[in-house]
Amino acid sequence: MVIGGGISGITAALEIADAGKKVYLVEKENQLGGNVASVDLTFPYMYNAQQILKELITNVEKHPNIEVFLNSNTEKISGYVGNFEAIISNGSEKKSELKFGNIIAATGLKPIDPSNITNYGYNTLPNVVTSLEFEKMLLSGKVLTKDGKEPKHVAVIHCVGSRNKDHNEYCSRTCCMTALKYSNQIKSILPQSNVYELYADMRAFGNRCEEFYASTAKRKVMFLMFDQQNDLPVIKKANSKDNCEMIIEMNEKLSGEDIEIPADLIILMVGMEAREDAKAVSHKIGVSMDSNGFFIEKHPKLDPVATTTGGVYIVGSCQGTKDISDSVSQAKAAAARVLATILQGEVQVESTTAVVNEDICCGCQFCISMCPYTAIHFDEEKGVSVVNEVLCKGCGTCGSTCPSGAIKSKHFTDHQILSQINGMMEMEFATDEVIA
Ligand code: SF4
Ligand code: SF4
Repeated sequence: MVIGGGISGITAALEIADAGKKVYLVEKENQLGGNVASVDLTFPYMYNAQQILKELITNVEKHPNIEVFLNSNTEKISGYVGNFEAIISNGSEKKSELKFGNIIAATGLKPIDPSNITNYGYNTLPNVVTSLEFEKMLLSGKVLTKDGKEPKHVAVIHCVGSRNKDHNEYCSRTCCMTALKYSNQIKSILPQSNVYELYADMRAFGNRCEEFYASTAKRKVMFLMFDQQNDLPVIKKANSKDNCEMIIEMNEKLSGEDIEIPADLIILMVGMEAREDAKAVSHKIGVSMDSNGFFIEKHPKLDPVATTTGGVYIVGSCQGTKDISDSVSQAKAAAARVLATILQGEVQVESTTAVVNEDICCGCQFCISMCPYTAIHFDEEKGVSVVNEVLCKGCGTCGSTCPSGAIKSKHFTDHQILSQINGMMEMEFATDEVIA
């Protein structure tokens, strides 16, 4: 089951389906495509995002191995690798019960709302728009102010809501290059316009992105640096004598000078952040979240798409902000991992799992709430907790919580640990005697 029908989810679904395996693709919106559905061109190659997406969606829709659930949410997920079950709801009476072996979460991110960054006047000044609103303008083929005029001065402000102690401290990773893409597109649509890029720190880290930055600078775009932590630019409505809609006041960091920039249209490069339901999804699929609401991978370098829960993978922006090519790479990696698991036909489980002594378990269920891998459930009939050995990672948290001492890790009983300590103490004394 793939949760999320954006570019990552679609790619993962197609890879697995093309290998002959059945895929359930669950999307909560009424169409596939995610954030890419509102993008015009992709940086740095300026490919048409809609054409790319349309082809992928057509392939998904006609694929015999993919079943798509639109307007749908996963209400409940239970089970473990090779043996998951989920209830999918589309808001109607009818619910679907699915059985599958692996989960790929591709739930993405959402753009931040810049209304509370008062310097920028979003929602009060009509010609201050967000990057996604500007994409809509580009998709229509026209760049116009709210009163239908061609803007003479266009400013693009980077890092809106990102890399700032009052908002999100992380870098949203896609805004710098998207801003350069806008400058190029504005210069092509309105060659006579003045374009200003107000940036905090240009991050052109992807393949061919530095070259894209250099070629944009050659199109007479003016780059102006500001202090993102302590001195954000301020946008004000212009006076009638100014001959423009708005004035941006800023301290230009490289020259140290206070300057004023005329603007008729201002684009805010809004950052991305976790969706409201990220926490609920993380609970359902049994993955941890970091303090920013991103799902945590098993190992950031050696296992970047797996999670600590067997059979559950995370791809795309739900694991951290990333661009289309990185999202697609992750989706293909996760698909390969899933196919490899299916091909193997069996999974290795931990040998040091927890076990409950049913004779002394009092049924308090403290262990269930503490287990980070949701490996324990309650047997109502017997009134005791039961450990699922496939899900249990042997972390020992439950053992330290249990007030009755009923739950223990195999091979790590109190008796075994004390014996080891005694053995080591004896060895140490013996060594001391030899030295003496
Ligand atoms: Fe049983 Fe101990 Fe779990 Fe309570 S914490 S339900 S006593 S195993
Ligand atoms: Fe859960 Fe850890 Fe106990 Fe296993 S050892 S049941 S993973 S708390």
